[in-house]
Amino acid sequence: MKKHNFSAGPCVLPQEVFQKASQALLNFNNMDLSIIEISHRDKNFIAVMDKAQNLALELLGLKDKGYTALFLQGGASMQFLMTAYNLLEKKAIYADTGTWSSKAIKEAKMFGEVDVIASSKDQNYNYIPKGYTIPSDADYFHCTSNNTIFGTQYKEFPEGSIPVVCDMSSDIFSRQLDFSKFDLIYAGAQKNMGPAGATLVIIKEDILGKVTRSIPSMLSYKVHAEKESMFNTPPVFAVYVSMLTLDWLQNLGGIAAIEKINNQKAALLYAEIDRNPLFTGFAAKEDRSTMNATFNLVDDSHKEVFDNLWKEAGINGLNGHRSVGGYRASMYNGLTLESVEVLVDTMKKFENTL
Ligand SMILES: *Cc1c(COP(=O)(O)O)cnc(C)c1O
Repeated sequence: MKKHNFSAGPCVLPQEVFQKASQALLNFNNMDLSIIEISHRDKNFIAVMDKAQNLALELLGLKDKGYTALFLQGGASMQFLMTAYNLLEKKAIYADTGTWSSKAIKEAKMFGEVDVIASSKDQNYNYIPKGYTIPSDADYFHCTSNNTIFGTQYKEFPEGSIPVVCDMSSDIFSRQLDFSKFDLIYAGAQKNMGPAGATLVIIKEDILGKVTRSIPSMLSYKVHAEKESMFNTPPVFAVYVSMLTLDWLQNLGGIAAIEKINNQKAALLYAEIDRNPLFTGFAAKEDRSTMNATFNLVDDSHKEVFDNLWKEAGINGLNGHRSVGGYRASMYNGLTLESVEVLVDTMKKFENTL
């Protein structure tokens, strides 16, 4: 039986996506060829790329609003430097809300001045800093909408007048936001959209071309945009599976529909974390992520008992990141409510066992 997969990434995808993807590996579009052996210039693949780009923009409500969707390689980690390479002329403002933000800051410092306007490092990143305004004398503001490791998520974003760059790797397509407030959004596919190997980058075209440095072709958004993500061979299979997931989401009713389910899943799990005296939540309540729920045992000596119980229940990927310890339940779009019910039942059973 398929495991209940709470892994933080690469992550669970809808079962029908796995099925369609495996079919295409054997025989794509009745071509009697595998999707991974045809030319990326073949019209059958170009249609996949077009559809993936269109679906991404449509689902985010950014179609015909001056945005381009790109599927690049190098993961979200490559975007830490590409954003700065392409946008940072003098100074950029960063919010430091976790490991991934810190890594983005480190890379950006190689290209210009970086002003870290807010940080929650003082409390091991268990909250989202608030109550600041973004200065207007900088090239852009960078934030991380969902902190995968610590389980915190922006519910509201700070206001400002400069372009906003956001790492949405672990919560893109999970909730409704006014995406037109963002000028550049990037997300590694493997958290909520597809297999590792593709990174979605959504760019408002008018923010490009403002820096004076010359940019190597492979690191230039302009080059990739002009070639419609086909400057070099794109990660064809990762793009195809991402397209299948976005198509699944569209048919389900889009972000509005999945947001309801995601809220239901998160509410169910957090209610149990708060009710069950054996567990304690890690993140500040008002900043809790609907995607990654982090929690610890009140008494670590019970760890083996609980670990055995969830493994017996067919649960996978529940161990927390080493910087938080305890547990992390990642509830991405592809995870069903039923899987969360199994986890909650296991937590209850654990309480009754002791
Ligand atoms: C996983 C993750 C990354 C790193 O992604 P890679 O694709 O492995 O480079 C960056 N940011 C966030 C928010 C993540 O969750």
